Amino acid sequence: MKIARTIAELPRFPDSVGLVPTMGAFHAGHLALFEAAREENDVVVASLFVNPAQFGDGEDLDRYPRDEERDAKLAEEAGVDVLFAPSPDEIYPEGFSTWVDVGELGAKLEGQFRPGHFRGVATVCLKLFNIVHPDRAYFGQKDAQQAAVIKQLVRDLNLGLEIRVVPIVRDDDGLALSSRNAYLSPAERERALALPRALATRDAAKARQLLADLDVDYVEEANLNGQRVLAAAVRVGKTRLIDNVVLEIPCQDSSWFGRATKGDPK
Ligand code: AMP
Repeated sequence: MKIARTIAELPRFPDSVGLVPTMGAFHAGHLALFEAAREENDVVVASLFVNPAQFGDGEDLDRYPRDEERDAKLAEEAGVDVLFAPSPDEIYPEGFSTWVDVGELGAKLEGQFRPGHFRGVATVCLKLFNIVHPDRAYFGQKDAQQAAVIKQLVRDLNLGLEIRVVPIVRDDDGLALSSRNAYLSPAERERALALPRALATRDAAKARQLLADLDVDYVEEANLNGQRVLAAAVRVGKTRLIDNVVLEIPCQDSSWFGRATKGDPK
């Protein structure tokens, strides 16, 4: 596996390319994305970039888990061909000033609690698409609103790549895998299990009741450009967790990789 730290170091590929954008601290959720990309493309590029632009003031940018050596090993084992691990300056050089203005879709749910988050996400993804030139890019249903924002970006700006969405990978206890789970103490992790249990009801009112003991940012049924989800964000101690369950998928949605209901909590 090649590690590229600059745009200039990235090879140009004659074959089909699948891109998996990540912030690192790999777990089985990331590995499922690598596997999906491996299955559908000749070359797999994973980006590892903790994108400062998608973190707000007071969020966890500084303490976000970083372990590039471990990530590189896991990516290589998963069949990633190129790990693109740029510095913040490589992506946002002195004088950088152009941003993607995400519309209404980015203003609700996460957007309400993390203003500017999707502007940062959409901008970095557009840059990564222009840098890597993938045929397909892979996102997790774990971040359902992010996947919807990126699909909208691709459609609105005629980016000409395919977005593929991979079901949520969960631990045996039902908690959706997340790099942020590393912040949870054992007692907090136990409390966090209320989140998948609440979503498993597939009912906003019942879910709200089951989350009564947690600090809830939102638990809402939402329409993400045709995909109906029950989505929630909660805080357990200092850790903010998000999760969702799909209620309905538009029948013409061809972005799903594998079975759409595979990642549903039980
Ligand atoms: P992150 O490194 O957290 O930015 O995540 C990189 C990609 O992995 C995003 O598209 C996420 O939606 C996806 N992802 C994160 N956790 C999971 C999970 N538990 N199951 C499936 N995909 C995930």
